[in-house]
Amino acid sequence: MLRSFMYMVAGLSFSAGPAAALPARPPLHKVASLKITVLSTMLADRGMGEWGFSVLVEADGHRILFDTGLHPETVLDNAHDLGIDLSNVTDVVLSHHHGDHTGGLVELRQELSKKSPSAMSRIHVAPGIFLSRRQPGRDDEANPTIAVKAAMEATGAVFVVHGKAEEIFPGVWLTGPVPRPNPERYYGAPESIVTDGRLVTDSIPEDMALLINTDKGFVIVAGCGHAGTINTVEYARRILGAEPAYAIVGGLHLFAAPDSALAWTATRLRAAHLGYLLGAHCTGIEAVFRIRELAALDRKRAVVAAIGSSFDASKGIDPLALAQ
Ligand SMILES: [Zn+2]
Ligand SMILES: [Zn+2]
Repeated sequence: MLRSFMYMVAGLSFSAGPAAALPARPPLHKVASLKITVLSTMLADRGMGEWGFSVLVEADGHRILFDTGLHPETVLDNAHDLGIDLSNVTDVVLSHHHGDHTGGLVELRQELSKKSPSAMSRIHVAPGIFLSRRQPGRDDEANPTIAVKAAMEATGAVFVVHGKAEEIFPGVWLTGPVPRPNPERYYGAPESIVTDGRLVTDSIPEDMALLINTDKGFVIVAGCGHAGTINTVEYARRILGAEPAYAIVGGLHLFAAPDSALAWTATRLRAAHLGYLLGAHCTGIEAVFRIRELAALDRKRAVVAAIGSSFDASKGIDPLALAQ
């Protein structure tokens, strides 16, 4: 099931050697049907909004919950309001350790496992998510996801740590930690990481995205964008090939970015042929509109996400009422 990025890199580098010794690199699988539905974000015409993020990803019949919102009950209640049954979702991705992405997981597991014991039982993370953190001037643990891990493992759930890009279902990839060659520093949180008895700036090294490979290009699902939007787009192109960035769904942490940073980001998204942006959570309202303008999108292709809004690979964005 897992296909590692290292295999692809090895295949590419060996291709410069004697051709007879080389197996051909197999073509990458492309997902035929894809729908991504927002279950936690700020704006809501239905259900309850919050400062948080969660989406349900449905790709060729595989269902994955990406992030779990802030409050324990938000994703459960919003899914119920939207008529979405999450009890047959086994796989959960946690993009990073912040509580607005991991706060609903224990409640989801406890409630949904009553109906289906495997619900929310396999949790995908990247290295660094369980590092001890501190708030300035305090000694108590500031990483809420350490307690989430203990509570989940007590129910029999398992955590799968992805140290590199891996294909978790055909055409569905996790980036693992994202290389950061560009000057995108979107991690201004006050927490520090505890390392060898001293504190270092928390760059949120575990921040990872989900990639879905389609015949129209790749789709990125980002939680909070701490690794940087363009860093993630460039890494997706390394993993999946120089395909168009067909869509980005999620939080890009651009809400407080100055105009110059928004222009820098939008110019590069335009060059990557971005087709759709469903900007949720910390993307910011002004940032969505600015990217719409500067990346040559329109109101059907660059939308502020609301609870229940969705992106479908064949139909585009359904914004629901308020954000249309
Ligand atoms: Zn965050
Ligand atoms: Zn966040």
